[in-house]
Amino acid sequence: MKLTDRIKYKAIELGFDFVGVSPAHQSPRAHDYYKWLKQGFHGNMKWLANDPERRSNPTKVLPQAQSVISVGLSYFIKNPQPEIWNDPSRGRIARYAWGQDYHDVIEPMLKTLSVFIQHEAGEEIKTRYYVDTGPVLERDIASQAGLGFVGKNTLLIHPDLGSYVFLGEIITDLELDFDEPPSSTESDHKAQIGTCGNCRRCLDVCPTHAFPVPYILNSKLCISYLTIELKGSIPLKLRPLMKNWIYGCDACQEMCPWVRRYSKPGQTRFLEYDPDFAAPRLMDLIKFDNDDFKKRFKGSPITRTKRRGLLRNAAVALGNWGNTEAIPVLKKAAEDPEPLIREHAAWAIEQIETSGEQRSEVLKGSLLPAP
Ligand code: SF4
Repeated sequence: MKLTDRIKYKAIELGFDFVGVSPAHQSPRAHDYYKWLKQGFHGNMKWLANDPERRSNPTKVLPQAQSVISVGLSYFIKNPQPEIWNDPSRGRIARYAWGQDYHDVIEPMLKTLSVFIQHEAGEEIKTRYYVDTGPVLERDIASQAGLGFVGKNTLLIHPDLGSYVFLGEIITDLELDFDEPPSSTESDHKAQIGTCGNCRRCLDVCPTHAFPVPYILNSKLCISYLTIELKGSIPLKLRPLMKNWIYGCDACQEMCPWVRRYSKPGQTRFLEYDPDFAAPRLMDLIKFDNDDFKKRFKGSPITRTKRRGLLRNAAVALGNWGNTEAIPVLKKAAEDPEPLIREHAAWAIEQIETSGEQRSEVLKGSLLPAP
């Protein structure tokens, strides 16, 4: 078996669902990326603007890099029950965060694969591996490795698994056999994944209208950014649009026909569906102290927001629920030592008191249907 095939075989054996190889060269979309940065669409994620040439070219990360091995792992488990997912008294957590932090699972797998490559190559080869942790345009690279196409929602869509997938990369100075990027001109069914066609569901469904045009995301409007990356106060005009998303957002994936049709669990299952974790009761969450937070979210990516970020988001979701039942817990949160929580809790109380139950009914009707 050729070395490239042995590496691919090993990747699947380790638990990845798909693997492909692309040449290590500047991303064909590098200039789109520079333009995106110039427009300030990365918001306060300053690391994305640090040395963009390096991020768009693996040879700047590893001199003499020849190949990039892209791997992926599906994190789809199941669709939540509509009565849970559509309940506005519960917060919604993006699927990738329904359990253990994916970095902790995928990094050791990449490390093992890197060691295997070094062992098999029988020479002093160099590797760098990343899972969302390094200067790599991972979706473009995966697409170049023939693993799918980048949709109008800017996510990689795999032909057999949709877009609920984690991606990882190994950059190496080893010369391997490259896969073909998908062609949009071939007529067979699988090859048609090279395009979204006339579909624009993800753009139209985005609650905060975060896509100014297809294939471009203004992160500053994206609910994932607002609930996770933004550390301070959420802009007032965006709060009502966030509905009950409290950590990330899957709205643009939930409506995608590729996701609806092809999502299926992968071979490495480390997430699990627990309704009280995936969609926690907001009135319980807003009462969490530091110990509760640490206990519930230990080992989860949700620790990224810290308690103050998650309770800020829960307060916004309670304000959007609009039910007076939430006022006592919000009043308590409005006295929290964290100014960020106090401010958002006070906003939520005002929302509920100004509009009351009537508003709650309107919001209920505007919530996204369960996938
Ligand atoms: Fe493409 Fe439609 Fe999926 Fe958006 S929802 S990524 S436009 S196929």
